[in-house]
Amino acid sequence: MISAADLSANLADVERRVVEACTRAARPRAAVQLVAVTKRHPPELVRLAWDAGLRHFGENYAQELRDKHQALSSCGGVRWHAIGPLQPKNAKYVAKAAHVFHALERLEVAQELSRRRTGAPLQCFVEVNVAGEASKAGLAPAEVAAFIAQVRALPNLEVTGLMCMPPLDDDPEASRPSFKALAQLARALALEHLSMGTTGDFEVAIEEGATHVRVGTALFGERPA
Ligand SMILES: *Cc1c(COP(=O)(O)O)cnc(C)c1O
Repeated sequence: MISAADLSANLADVERRVVEACTRAARPRAAVQLVAVTKRHPPELVRLAWDAGLRHFGENYAQELRDKHQALSSCGGVRWHAIGPLQPKNAKYVAKAAHVFHALERLEVAQELSRRRTGAPLQCFVEVNVAGEASKAGLAPAEVAAFIAQVRALPNLEVTGLMCMPPLDDDPEASRPSFKALAQLARALALEHLSMGTTGDFEVAIEEGATHVRVGTALFGERPA
């Protein structure tokens, strides 16, 4: 596991890069939420990150989210972001522990989340397969408006934005067309938030309007297998 000193150095570096990207885009730093992706790391790492001042954590797996939510219950101010694909049978864990869900793409999952949610509505991003990749999660851009209308009929969810995972590429610039397309679709649908950008391309995402960047490796190093 990463040391507190290395985490602090990584966080300072990521923060500087976020600020510089915001400056290039003439956007305030406060317009971008850094979501620290802690998937597959132990709860002790999340606690270290909390000690370093991080409060927004991203988890991919519903049971892992449930366990870390429990383990970190004494840490104030934590906001949990469920960012991975979700099966209806696991929706209960996300409904209970998460503040934000970034990967909504199935009505069945939306229905189950709404049914299980108590308290404040769960803030949701609809995942879009902007590049039309056969193997990728997410709705086709043309399906998004009708899907959102169906989700909005449910009581305990609030659709506030769109999310995408562009095709993997070593060149961050390769993600720019996907980010631009997602931002354009969000504008057309009057959605305020954009969850886009990871370690490889978060600066480009911020330049294209990301309100939430999901960064793991740049903060915590390689994940355990
Ligand atoms: C793992 C993951 C991330 C973080 O990826 P890094 O390259 O480690 O920054 C972001 N978003 C999703 C959906 C992920 O699964």
